[in-house]
Amino acid sequence: MNEKIQRLSDLIKVFGSWSKAQEILFLLHGLKEVVRHGFYDFELKAVEEFCSANNIFLAKSPFKIILNENKEINQKFSNLGLKSPDLSDNKGMSMIYLSKDEKKAHLAVYYEQTNNQKELGLLLGYPSCCVDYFCQNFSASNNNPEIASDNIFTNLAHREEDCVLISHFPCKADCSESIKIGKDNLELLQKIESERAKVALNVLKNTDNLQ
Ligand SMILES: [Zn+2]
Repeated sequence: MNEKIQRLSDLIKVFGSWSKAQEILFLLHGLKEVVRHGFYDFELKAVEEFCSANNIFLAKSPFKIILNENKEINQKFSNLGLKSPDLSDNKGMSMIYLSKDEKKAHLAVYYEQTNNQKELGLLLGYPSCCVDYFCQNFSASNNNPEIASDNIFTNLAHREEDCVLISHFPCKADCSESIKIGKDNLELLQKIESERAKVALNVLKNTDNLQ
């Protein structure tokens, strides 16, 4: 075991954004069991090195996702895009599943491969009410099942500013399970990354751009 305390500022250098780095922190501290993210080939080496140094298993999708040209859509939904079996295509990003449990990382690949959104969502730790909500509402014609929320824990309105406390679409603004996840995540940030917690709270309390 050569694990060392990981700081968000270091994690961002490897994973590329606050919200991705935050999720890795939650994974390291046991608040999340599996994390799913897309990475381009040039980003992968650092991610793989980080994982092997920190005892995290990494499983890779057997396809790449070629994202839509529309940048705005891409920032919101990394799962929207064409699946391509051509792993040598540099324009595509690989979906990566990270877990301390090797079996769970591979299971996530399997669920995504077989398009089993429900089991994938549950494995990623999303509340079952929100998984059901996503399965019933997400489609090609409705690719943004985001609800308006002025609750800081379920508010996804600041995703573009990379500022959220949960990583799933909540079924409703006052979904108690989502709020619990958001509170646990915030509590950890306040304990070990208090500056980030302050910034996140400031942004999330500013509800000006609520939809
Ligand atoms: Zn819910």
